[in-house]
Amino acid sequence: VTIAADRRAGAPAGPEDPGERMTAMMRRLFPLCRSITGDGVRATLDIVGERLPLERHAVPSGTQVFDWTVNDEWNVRDAYVADRHGNRVVDFREHNLHLVSYSAPVRERLTLDQLRPHLHTLRDRPDWIPYRTSYYRRDWGFCLPHRQLEAMDDGPYDVVVDSTLAPGELTYGELLIPGETDDEVILTAHVCHPSLANDNLSGIAVATELAGAVAAMPARRYTYRFLFAPGTIGSLTWLSRNAEVLPRIRHGYDERQFNAIGFDLAVGRLSRTPHGEYPEYHTSADDLDFVQAAELVDSYRSILRIVDVLENDGVYRNCSPYGEPQLGRRGLYPSVGGRTADDAVMAMLWTLAYADGSAGLLDIATVAGLDFADVRAASAALADAGLLEPVAEEGSSGA
Ligand code: ZN
Repeated sequence: VTIAADRRAGAPAGPEDPGERMTAMMRRLFPLCRSITGDGVRATLDIVGERLPLERHAVPSGTQVFDWTVNDEWNVRDAYVADRHGNRVVDFREHNLHLVSYSAPVRERLTLDQLRPHLHTLRDRPDWIPYRTSYYRRDWGFCLPHRQLEAMDDGPYDVVVDSTLAPGELTYGELLIPGETDDEVILTAHVCHPSLANDNLSGIAVATELAGAVAAMPARRYTYRFLFAPGTIGSLTWLSRNAEVLPRIRHGYDERQFNAIGFDLAVGRLSRTPHGEYPEYHTSADDLDFVQAAELVDSYRSILRIVDVLENDGVYRNCSPYGEPQLGRRGLYPSVGGRTADDAVMAMLWTLAYADGSAGLLDIATVAGLDFADVRAASAALADAGLLEPVAEEGSSGA
């Protein structure tokens, strides 16, 4: 996959502001009923595909993937619990969290007691709808606020799950942005959760924005691969189909699979708040109001800073190592004084002090307590003045 010319030029689609673009994308993605397979995943990839030239992969149900098997595909037309007057008291069309993901088809008349084992609530958060799945055990169920369950009478109720579970495909999207080397950085965003904003949608929005920014960079040391895939089974499916790529992966971000001891890749997870550490996790309270544009932008810029380190970290040698070189003679003292100028000079002095041919720029920034970007700028100025030269390295420095 190559990047379209307009993307190379960095022309953003839609609003100019990254925060606005990411929240606008999340608003469109939020209502879709995503799961590990199905129309919701494809519709999600369609929306991401408006911004990025994604290559789409379809892996047939039944495909063996390490210890797992790609599931039958799940799609839903309608699902509800209606009282005896025909009023829908739990309605998938109102909120897709109301239906347990991968619910098998059902059409029955049940009393509340018969229905109760299929109803999921949160007693301690009585106004929130929980998120439940049953991917690998054939079952059906509804999720609802506990307060609503307590208001239901004995019934009977008409229970309808108009879903299909049938051989189809697992779908994922992939974008390869070539760099000067085949060494790869892989970034994964999961596309399997329904109407949950922080858990999945923020990752999709930030990854899309990031892919646009990386593609717009004039040059890249690394090749970057972005995956938009369902969690666990999607990551494992990709891993099973790309054995030849794995030795080239130097850095990456996903959850749990890539760093398994069988793969042993230097892949970690990036998240503002780990799952289980916020009460809204996997509930209807993880909605669009829960995610702020400023936080999305902060995450996006933080990952861009990581990319900056990956792209620009390097080892240098001080070419004038016998004491402090005369910066003024080389025009390296900024003509305007002040705090910023002092910082720039300090970054140069720290860099000269540690550039012994073994310490990398990130090491120097860490020791000096400076931003990597400042040390990088200092090293560039010093190299231009002939005071610093790069040292050829064996492989990458690692992060
Ligand atoms: Zn989740």
